[in-house]
Amino acid sequence: MLSYQHAFHAGNHADVLKHVALIELLGYLSAKPKCLWYIDTHAGAGTYELGRSDVAIREAQTGVERLWNVTDAPPMVLNYLQQLARMNPSGKLEHYPGSPRIAADMLRSGDRLWLSELHPADHASLLATFGHRDRRIRTERRDGLAWLKALLPPAPKRALVFIDPSYEVMSDYRNVAAAVSDARRRFSTGVYAIWYPILALRAAQQLPRALEAAAGPKWLHARLVVRDPAQGGLHGSGLFVVNPPYTLAGSFEETLSWLARRLAQDSHASYAIESS
Ligand code: SAM
Repeated sequence: MLSYQHAFHAGNHADVLKHVALIELLGYLSAKPKCLWYIDTHAGAGTYELGRSDVAIREAQTGVERLWNVTDAPPMVLNYLQQLARMNPSGKLEHYPGSPRIAADMLRSGDRLWLSELHPADHASLLATFGHRDRRIRTERRDGLAWLKALLPPAPKRALVFIDPSYEVMSDYRNVAAAVSDARRRFSTGVYAIWYPILALRAAQQLPRALEAAAGPKWLHARLVVRDPAQGGLHGSGLFVVNPPYTLAGSFEETLSWLARRLAQDSHASYAIESS
């Protein structure tokens, strides 16, 4: 079942959380000279047009559009806004980067990017954006978690694995936790970032504990809630990081307390950070 298309959700509050964190992780890991692999198991289309007339729901209004003109943000958010500004040189927010675009812009000539995307249209967009133009990048239309098994351990022994499923099917929740456990057996020192939705759904609520069990000794878990759960739908999301940089908890504290205020839709907005 592949009815999910990220174009309908691009730039929403969940994208803000995951992309702010992704930029921080890539910045930290690429500060060391040794080369790095970036593995994006659920890559999406690569870039998104926020003004597309056929996209009826503009979820960017819950996220990036609330931040676009701010100047008083914490450094993690300012870094994110700088990435966006490079894609929108006119000053009008029209183009939004997906995780592959962010990684391709931040990584260096010796780094490699492995992007899997199952949806035919989104995979075609990925190919059109990155296709054969960038020799660092390989895209495949295949199951991202199965490909992850084949890719680990990475040749340079350094990798960031970004796991951002659509959770369209219940088995995604189980499969993600099992994939993290398997991946750690193959490559225990990798950095793994797993995004998940905060929903009134048992499988979603149980995922953080399953990830904790799969994560090994070092992990960080960040949650951002933007509105009252009683209203239903996606009221927040979480990011679970295995082997986080030691600086991440401190940067997240400042960033999430600011984002929880800025993206709040009502008085139920909140954030939480836990770590091992
Ligand atoms: N990571 C992207 C970003 O941050 O821009 C967004 C990804 S979106 C939340 C999830 C994507 O996973 C969708 O494009 C969907 O088509 C794709 N997908 C669903 N099942 C998949 C699978 N088994 N393997 C790879 N991709 C899959």
